Amino acid sequence: MVREIQDEIIRIKKEKGICILAHSYQAHEIMEIADYTGDSFQLSLAGKEAREDTVLMCGVHFMAETVKLLSPQKKVLLVHPEAGCPMADQVGPEFVEHFREQNPGYTVVCYINTTAALKTACDVCVTSTAVKIVNNIENENILFLPDGNLGDYVSRQVRGKNIRLFQGGCPIHAAVRAEDVAAARKAPQRAGAGPSRVRPRRGGHGRLCGIDLRIMDYARKSDAREFIIGTENSIAEHLSYELPDKEFYALSKKMLCPNMKLTTLMDVYKVLQGQGGLEIDMDPDTMVRAKRCIDEMVRLGK
Ligand code: SF4
Repeated sequence: MVREIQDEIIRIKKEKGICILAHSYQAHEIMEIADYTGDSFQLSLAGKEAREDTVLMCGVHFMAETVKLLSPQKKVLLVHPEAGCPMADQVGPEFVEHFREQNPGYTVVCYINTTAALKTACDVCVTSTAVKIVNNIENENILFLPDGNLGDYVSRQVRGKNIRLFQGGCPIHAAVRAEDVAAARKAPQRAGAGPSRVRPRRGGHGRLCGIDLRIMDYARKSDAREFIIGTENSIAEHLSYELPDKEFYALSKKMLCPNMKLTTLMDVYKVLQGQGGLEIDMDPDTMVRAKRCIDEMVRLGK
């Protein structure tokens, strides 16, 4: 049944000329029917390069917004209208405006996992290249938001900056504690991998500090046979399919994003048939100012 629906989705998307993007935290059955998979910024670039004029985002709202910012002429649909991100919703542009009034002269840096509205108030956004971008900012006074864990990691890598952190973050990654890592490690001969968004007190427990795709790449290249995956559990699932001769264990059952899991294969099927989904639409001012924040990231990343 799942296979039949997947075949039908692939047929319809080709017939209608629709590009499907799926974030790495989507269920494996959705990854299998996507044209492009990866992290949010990679997907936005893929959506821009795609020849199709309509793009479906299997992910959360801010990701669909980023796709639209990079492809304003395309029709962009978020497959599940309710799929939001608690971290992206933790801070709005009003906070930044208030901060600037109280602290003039700061450069405001936001993680890409933020709303377009927040990006309009920030100077530059960052992805996994956060250290490089922050290093390349001339100003020494920086506000980093919303992810306090990533911001803390950046502030420990960068010299000569006064970096103030907003104490927000992803509740999924923040749920894991050092005890979870220790418990998982009790099993012998398992290599650990952890994302840069873990709390600093867990630093040093993982073999690799990096984003999810670097974790996957590490697992592909490593000679180890068993891995504990310290990020959202979908990554362990995808790796199990891709590398069946290796064993992948999720670090903790807590690392399952319910927002990412809202989207189902049937949702994709229905949106392709014109039912449901949320078309992303932003006013021109938001589009211009939020895009400027992304453009600055590209400029500083060169
Ligand atoms: Fe947001 Fe965290 Fe879920 Fe990603 S994993 S969508 S950052 S809540």
